[in-house]
Amino acid sequence: MDSRPTVAVLGAGWSGLSAAVRLVEGGCRVILLEKRAVPGGRALSYTDNDSGDALDNGPHIFLGCYSGTIRFLDAIGAGARLRFSRRLRLAFIDRERGAFQFRCPSLPSPWNLLAGLLGLRGLDLPDRFRALRLGAWARRLTESDLQRLESSTLETWLAKAGQTPAIRRVIWDPIAMAALNEDPAVASAAVFARVFREAFLSGGPSGIGLSAFGLSDLYAGPALRFLEKNGCEVRFRSGVSRILIGPGGVDGLQLGDGTRIAADAYLSTLPPRDLQAALPRTTFHSDPYFRRIASLETSPVVSIHLWYDRKFLEEPFVGLLGTRTQWLFDRRAILGSEGEGSGLSAVISAARSYIDWPASDIIAMAEEDIAACVPAARRARLLRAKVVKERHATFSPRAGSSRLRPGPRTPIPNLILGGDWTDTGLPGCIEGAVRSGERAAAEVGRFVLEDRTVE
Ligand SMILES: Cc1cc2nc3c(=O)[nH]c(=O)nc-3n(C[C@H](O)[C@H](O)[C@H](O)COP(=O)(O)OP(=O)(O)OC[C@H]3O[C@@H](n4cnc5c(N)ncnc54)[C@H](O)[C@@H]3O)c2cc1C
Repeated sequence: MDSRPTVAVLGAGWSGLSAAVRLVEGGCRVILLEKRAVPGGRALSYTDNDSGDALDNGPHIFLGCYSGTIRFLDAIGAGARLRFSRRLRLAFIDRERGAFQFRCPSLPSPWNLLAGLLGLRGLDLPDRFRALRLGAWARRLTESDLQRLESSTLETWLAKAGQTPAIRRVIWDPIAMAALNEDPAVASAAVFARVFREAFLSGGPSGIGLSAFGLSDLYAGPALRFLEKNGCEVRFRSGVSRILIGPGGVDGLQLGDGTRIAADAYLSTLPPRDLQAALPRTTFHSDPYFRRIASLETSPVVSIHLWYDRKFLEEPFVGLLGTRTQWLFDRRAILGSEGEGSGLSAVISAARSYIDWPASDIIAMAEEDIAACVPAARRARLLRAKVVKERHATFSPRAGSSRLRPGPRTPIPNLILGGDWTDTGLPGCIEGAVRSGERAAAEVGRFVLEDRTVE
């Protein structure tokens, strides 16, 4: 008889896959349940039939401080699929002032940041020093300072730290919008400060990582192969319609087709609204642990995949300033794929104002923004474009949202939570998803040990 504890993992995104890998490595029997036909959740890719290009649901960038993500990719044999720049270098094109770079030399942090900000051509000298002050300030923050900052918006904090509109426009707002997927007017200063410290001030690597593969081939495929090789039972098109609660905890799961799954522990990485739909109403509403989750809001991302008749972008990705489109990626250059013309992807984070626009208007806006920033694009012809709207791309890390984010242990003893929206301290990002998955797996380990000790 198999004496290993059985764990059901709900959801096969970054969080569920990393949790399942940890559990399998820890000697558990794992059943991974995913409602879709493929793994990847909010970070996946597919092949575009017309061009043969690998298209991600939206361009994803990785930071050098994504230690959990790198460890996870190494564990599934996919570490080499992610390429990090040795130094932090961000290229910008300002619609009014042209191109400039934020380039940090390869010095240990925070010296690299110091040199990068001092050399930032998009700002005058007094503003470069003011920007440096924010770095010094952020570096000194203690955990209790960060907790106090939870209820402050990033905009308020930046104003208090003497950051002028010019500094915000050139550096903090583009970084914040990309990292937090939220407008600095509502985003939590604490979440920004945590990312800023981890990414730029921790002394660790601060380069930017881009995947040399479509997202599904970067991690979802390799994770699946690892799991199946190690005896994990993976079931697609297996949406959990009910988490069945009994007097002692979760009794089992009911799938959409009526099948029942029983396990010793249940690790959910479902996004908040899916978790709420699967739990009994009384359970969800009777306990403040669950109830507060319902108040977490989400923030959309709009991505626009564009095919032009010629190449004109000189960087793998650039930040666009003074435009509604925020970042532009040269998809084909990043993937190293061949093809006539160019294959680009544009991104708008915190895209509430555009999410309900018709695709044709979004495409026209992106085309206009690109032409305004890149003169060579004005001679190029747009052949085709595709809009991907992710209405619930991430939770909204707005000021005060940290109290709505639960830890991994729920009031139900054998139900443990992961997912990028749980209380990792990070915004909704891959690293948060992976860390939450690994933390939840460790909690399952503790629960199983406690449970067996009681027996
Ligand atoms: C367009 C876009 C761009 C982004 N850019 C970046 C970036 O540049 N860098 C970065 O770090 N992060 C980025 N993110 C965020 C990152 O993609 C997410 O943080 C991460 O993918 C979340 O992973 P997760 O496993 O927590 O959740 P999910 O990926 O949402 O996984 C949950 C899984 O549960 C499944 N599920 C739902 N309900 C059920 C059910 N009832 N039964 C079974 N399964 C169910 C879902 O299908 C899904 O596969 C971006 C996100 C988007 C959408």
